[in-house]
Amino acid sequence: MPHGLLDETHDPARRSWVAAANLPGTDFPIQNLPLGVFSRGAGDRRGCVAIGDQVLDLAAGLAAGLFEGEAGEAAHAGSGPVLNPLLALGRGASRALRRRVSAILAEGSADRAVASRCLVPMAELRLHRPVEVGNFTDFMASRFHTARMGAKRDPANPLPPSFLHLPIAYHSRATTVRVSGEAVARPHGQSLGPDGKPRFGPVLALDFELEFGAVIGPANRMGDPIPVARAGDALFGFCLVNDWSARDVQRFEMMPLGPFLSKSLSTSISPWIVTAEALAPFAAPAFARLEGDPEPLPYLMAAADQAAGGLDVSLDCWMTTPRMRTEGAAPARIVATSARHLHWTFAQMVAHHTSNGCDLRTGDLLASGTVSGPEAEGRACLAEVVLEDGGLTLPNGERRTFLEDGDEVWFTGRAERAGYVPIGFGECRARIDPAKSWPMG
Ligand code: CA
Repeated sequence: MPHGLLDETHDPARRSWVAAANLPGTDFPIQNLPLGVFSRGAGDRRGCVAIGDQVLDLAAGLAAGLFEGEAGEAAHAGSGPVLNPLLALGRGASRALRRRVSAILAEGSADRAVASRCLVPMAELRLHRPVEVGNFTDFMASRFHTARMGAKRDPANPLPPSFLHLPIAYHSRATTVRVSGEAVARPHGQSLGPDGKPRFGPVLALDFELEFGAVIGPANRMGDPIPVARAGDALFGFCLVNDWSARDVQRFEMMPLGPFLSKSLSTSISPWIVTAEALAPFAAPAFARLEGDPEPLPYLMAAADQAAGGLDVSLDCWMTTPRMRTEGAAPARIVATSARHLHWTFAQMVAHHTSNGCDLRTGDLLASGTVSGPEAEGRACLAEVVLEDGGLTLPNGERRTFLEDGDEVWFTGRAERAGYVPIGFGECRARIDPAKSWPMG
């Protein structure tokens, strides 16, 4: 992320008149200002900005006269039931809105009295999928995940031949992208049983994949590739992604065309889009290639992207089982990893994705693939733990190979750097519901 986006909104001394935004450990200080979509009671869905334990209702703010000019145009575009019209306006509008919202919510603001009437407590609202996702592409950008998953097939060469040359991906399903909080019913699927014969029924090996996602801002026209040096401008913002995976179905179906129903069963995303502007202080160098790795071809390489195209965002996965909740046990942190472990930057993903002339549309979701790190605690899906250890042992002694009904899994993300106020991503959470009965007749 370009450091050129840094401005007064990142000032660590800036505080908000919304008291909860100044608490240490909050995900939503005034330096963050992520965008979402909420409803209250039977009311409409409308765009908002998170601040502490409140949201600023953009439609109410417009009606109260808080926005004008470019920020007003942006607030209007972001005030509807999905954020796509705002995403389409691009970086200038996003930045103008951020600067105006930051000024409104800052301590000492002359707009405090008016703006306080446009706040809604998070405890009183429901959050919705913030973006109409037209297309969803899932990459496989962590070398550590890819190597662990490939080690059983060929321990000497666990990476597929193309992995070090291009960001590999598959086209996944956009219609089943859901917002955090919606339960995931165990799906039905066909897999090979232990007797080697096909079986069909509730899937047996349901897994999570801890991923990081980007939503596309302005679209490119079909036939017009986005060069890697400009690809950062296509990345409006970021969210947490859980690419739920049915491993038993996946093993049987994916040769040779790749995953299909094992992945389209459901994908959860966090309700907040953390903008590229908010993440500017947390830019990091691209993943360092190892000694002997090939240099990627020039269309994937740009000096600025190599210097600052990575993101320093820590990502954790938490879990409770029904027994843990009954016993009042604390949630278990079962994964601790970082977006720094991604071998490819999101700009490289965009450049590669569009290199054949494919158009990306506003609101498209690009997910990183399982963000595993090198250490055991960085194994960011159960399949890796099962391959290496046979399963997961929770603090109360319970064992899991894959997820059981009633298990609840959620991701958190946090960006921290000395000299800046840390920001968070909220949660990407879902509980596994039992399979529904198969329709008869
Ligand atoms: Ca995935």
